[in-house]
Amino acid sequence: MITYILGAGPAGLAAGYYMTRIGCAVTVLEAEREYGGFARTFCHGPFRYDTGAHRFHDKDAEITADIQDLMGNELIKVHAPSQIYWNGRYLDFPLSPVNVARRIGIGTFVRAGADFAFARLRRSKRDEWNFAAKAYRKYGKTIADAFLIGYSEKLWGVPAQKLMPEVSGGRLKGLSARTMLYELLRGKQEKTEHLDGSFYYPRQGYGQIAERLAASIGKENIRLSTRVTKLRHDGTTIQLIECEGHESARPKRVVSSLPQSVLLRLLDPAPPRQLIEIAEGMKFRDLILTALFLNRTQVSRNASIYFPSEDVPFTRLYEPKNRSIELAPPSQTCAVVEIPCFADQPIWVENDTDLIGNVTRELERAGLIRGDDVIGGKVHRLRRAYPVLEIGIHEKLDELRRYLQRFVNLYVVGRTGRFEYTHVHDLLRQGKELAKLMQTEAATDLTLQRVHSG
Ligand SMILES: Cc1cc2nc3c(=O)[nH]c(=O)nc-3n(C[C@H](O)[C@H](O)[C@H](O)COP(=O)(O)OP(=O)(O)OC[C@H]3O[C@@H](n4cnc5c(N)ncnc54)[C@H](O)[C@@H]3O)c2cc1C
Repeated sequence: MITYILGAGPAGLAAGYYMTRIGCAVTVLEAEREYGGFARTFCHGPFRYDTGAHRFHDKDAEITADIQDLMGNELIKVHAPSQIYWNGRYLDFPLSPVNVARRIGIGTFVRAGADFAFARLRRSKRDEWNFAAKAYRKYGKTIADAFLIGYSEKLWGVPAQKLMPEVSGGRLKGLSARTMLYELLRGKQEKTEHLDGSFYYPRQGYGQIAERLAASIGKENIRLSTRVTKLRHDGTTIQLIECEGHESARPKRVVSSLPQSVLLRLLDPAPPRQLIEIAEGMKFRDLILTALFLNRTQVSRNASIYFPSEDVPFTRLYEPKNRSIELAPPSQTCAVVEIPCFADQPIWVENDTDLIGNVTRELERAGLIRGDDVIGGKVHRLRRAYPVLEIGIHEKLDELRRYLQRFVNLYVVGRTGRFEYTHVHDLLRQGKELAKLMQTEAATDLTLQRVHSG
């Protein structure tokens, strides 16, 4: 019998890839016409751009080595800086004291320094129970308010006091007091750790990782345009998978990367009502991606530019060509901006022409482009981009986990699936660990069979 994997985003494909490598038979079921989920690359004429600014984080040596094997020469090392646009000025990202002092003015810098020292003296690490508290303790009020609090609220759509500290996604790590002080004393050239400047990236766009994973699984084992509509169970085992317009299948195991609200709704018989309400109450931030196609060679040298100001509707701009020159023609470029929002807000239904016009005007105001550079634009509306990790979320997740654990052949993976702020290397690690677990289970099954037949 086959293991069915629900969803062909990075998590589902990673599970399929590692399971195929240990000789496990898998079939991946994906609702959309393409695989890659939230890590896809769009094509528009000669331009290629991703579902938001993606990079491969080199944080797990074993997983990086696996990806290097998988991608071969197609994985390149990119060296590109990033910046923050703040009050009409550009600052280096991650923030460096030398650059901050130069850009925000000496008065504000002195105030920021005093705040910073005060915050470090007054609070202990125990106070970092929400994102705002963590940011204030680490940087003091002046810097946190200018660069972190407003930005995070724009990104996540809830007050920073209601967010779990982990929404910083490790971005605050390289900005410790020690590194700030070190830089201040030694100058910027001696920067201790460059968080944002060098990273791996596939030549043809981030979606190439999903392409390669899918090719390794075997495209005949991936069913696109196949939406799972029901998971019939007997209380302990998923017995039947039903898909829109397809025959149903009897799975050996089911690996789900679907959002938990979707997974719970698929179960038949249905789970208790209050669990469905918990799952449906967990918020995801949606994303409007606006790509501008430009008749100029480059907008800037940056991998990304961050916009913390609340007056600007987007959080980040990225220029695909600065990751790989193969993503735009030599004399043209493309700028992609990310507008986080909830799908029930008016901006979600704003028409494309207005969105493209507004983005163009904002980028002109920031001195990045001229209106007549724009030769076209494209808008993508993407649901469930970021799981919003609000205070109290872990208790809710524990409750859902306790319920789902009763299904002995169900495994939950993924960023949307587990409602965690994880990245592609984490999802590959999950897939690898899952394959190891299945190998152990298979060995146990065999031993049992031998014992019983012996
Ligand atoms: C703007 C942005 C920037 C990012 N930058 C980075 C980065 O730089 N580096 C990094 O590592 N990560 C980055 N990420 C995160 C990364 O994109 C996600 O971690 C990853 O795509 C999540 O993969 P997943 O498989 O868990 O979920 P998804 O990609 O959401 O995949 C779930 C899949 O399930 C399918 N599905 C849903 N319902 C059904 C159904 N009923 N039947 C069948 N299929 C179904 C969906 O169509 C989808 O393909 C970024 C994310 C965003 C939004």
